[in-house]
Amino acid sequence: MPAETKLFLCLKDNYGVLLHDPESGATAAIDAPEAAPIEAALRSTGWPLSDILVTHHHADHTGGIAELKQKHRCRVVAPQGEAAKIPLVDETVREGDTVKVGTLTASVIETPGHTAGHIAYWFERDKLAFAGDTLFSVGCGRVIEGTPEMMWASLLKLRALPGDTQIYSGHEYTMANIKFAQTIDPDNTALEARAARAANQVASGVPTIPTSIDEEKVTNPFLRADVPEIAAAVGLAGKPPAQVFAEVRARKNRS
Ligand SMILES: [Zn+2]
Repeated sequence: MPAETKLFLCLKDNYGVLLHDPESGATAAIDAPEAAPIEAALRSTGWPLSDILVTHHHADHTGGIAELKQKHRCRVVAPQGEAAKIPLVDETVREGDTVKVGTLTASVIETPGHTAGHIAYWFERDKLAFAGDTLFSVGCGRVIEGTPEMMWASLLKLRALPGDTQIYSGHEYTMANIKFAQTIDPDNTALEARAARAANQVASGVPTIPTSIDEEKVTNPFLRADVPEIAAAVGLAGKPPAQVFAEVRARKNRS
């Protein structure tokens, strides 16, 4: 049976998401920004919390773990490289490991850059990926612990997933990301269409995620650092994509 998801806001602009396996009843929270909205989502769905899958150690992704674990005795899965910074970890995972949520199976993809040990969870059969703070809708995370080269390589790994993979990310930043993207890529008609759609979504109070790899490939300037038009737009025609990526990211930091 296909996986079910429940998406909701936490803290100021974080997303919480539950992933449910209808066959076994198992339910995972992807990250745990804060306990209360996750508890509310569990109540409204009637799903029991069996697992927390952590993408990285930042407090706005792990702040709810202790309270949830105390109440639900759920398993906490976390990236091997950051386990020491994450509370109450039961199982550590690294590149290529598989993680089961009931009968659902994820592959672990290491995506360093935002943090040094950041990981994403890819549920291939269900065409879902949870990208944490690596890939956002029309954006990407800040490069805090890694280098632009590392982050670019991580984004390429996600870009290589099947185009119809639905991408869940850690924050609702889409409108700000689109506004910035249009400064880099003003003639992109796919981006223009995306801007109109996202504005409607926000006006109707609905989330702008999940997005898809196919959609990001044509609209996200951070995934398009190897497209000649993007390199030219930042004055780096013919330069290596990682250098173009670094410049686009630097401009976003200043925007
Ligand atoms: Zn983060």
